[in-house]
Amino acid sequence: MTFALFDAPSAEPSQFVGFAGNRIDRQSENRADDCVEKALADPRTRLMLLGDGRICLKLDGGTFDPWYGLAESEAFKPRLGEAVLLGFDASGPILAASAGIGADDLPATVKAIDYRSVYMQGLIDAAALGALAQGAALLAWNASHRFCSKCGHASETRAGGYRRHCPSCGADHFPRTDPVAIMLTATREKCLLGRSPHFAPGSYSALAGFIEPGETIENAVRRETMEEAGIRLGRVVYHASQPWPFPYSLMIGCFGEPLNEDIQPDLGELEDCRWFFRDEVRQMLAREHPSGLVTPAKGAIAHTLIRAWVENGI
Ligand SMILES: [Zn+2]
Repeated sequence: MTFALFDAPSAEPSQFVGFAGNRIDRQSENRADDCVEKALADPRTRLMLLGDGRICLKLDGGTFDPWYGLAESEAFKPRLGEAVLLGFDASGPILAASAGIGADDLPATVKAIDYRSVYMQGLIDAAALGALAQGAALLAWNASHRFCSKCGHASETRAGGYRRHCPSCGADHFPRTDPVAIMLTATREKCLLGRSPHFAPGSYSALAGFIEPGETIENAVRRETMEEAGIRLGRVVYHASQPWPFPYSLMIGCFGEPLNEDIQPDLGELEDCRWFFRDEVRQMLAREHPSGLVTPAKGAIAHTLIRAWVENGI
């Protein structure tokens, strides 16, 4: 029996973005308060070592290895009391922990590389990059929520890092995921791209902004597009999402249907914003634009949105 809602192609667009390849079995329903302690007593446990927005990667021949055994990790003085449990794979439990030594003190065979470079340069496989998104976001949330937001008392980690408990007032606090809408406004012929002053030279991308409390995804897309470009949107359609550990966001990619053409860019946010016809965007994707204009690189959800529009005419 088929159900019309699920008649779409089976390949989810979200599968094709960076940070989306996590294969860890989270076993979220089984997270006891002592699950990290149990993992630390299990000789099969492997962990990722993070710190200051970087991951410690072992140089192994010509490739990078992000995984450490417990004994192997001791040289890096991991802060195991604040480790988080990512879950399990066929070989056992998987943790993430902050390294206790600085990048300057690492052995020559280990490099501390910032998350963005690891992602942009494809230094680790898709599954490990997905695990990095989980571990980086969870460690960052715990590190920035050490005190109870109700009473100010120091809170304690629970459930493998997925909850913080306040022993003073009894409140429980849970990890945040901050939703960001990223949207490609497009007709059949052209799409709207803009560039912020901090973008790489020649780079144009889809517009984006945080979804606010009490707002639907669709209304956030309409509001941001109006604020940044002066374009009113009609229909808004969800396309794909991307975990984004800077520090703990979820990018929600949508297409929007424009109702007017006259762009009024918010020059406080964008230094340029204009319509691009399909052939020009195809050149930008292929890095063949005569003026050197480019789209974000493969792996970025903006790239996924732009490529879907160019290739499929969505
Ligand atoms: Zn409290």
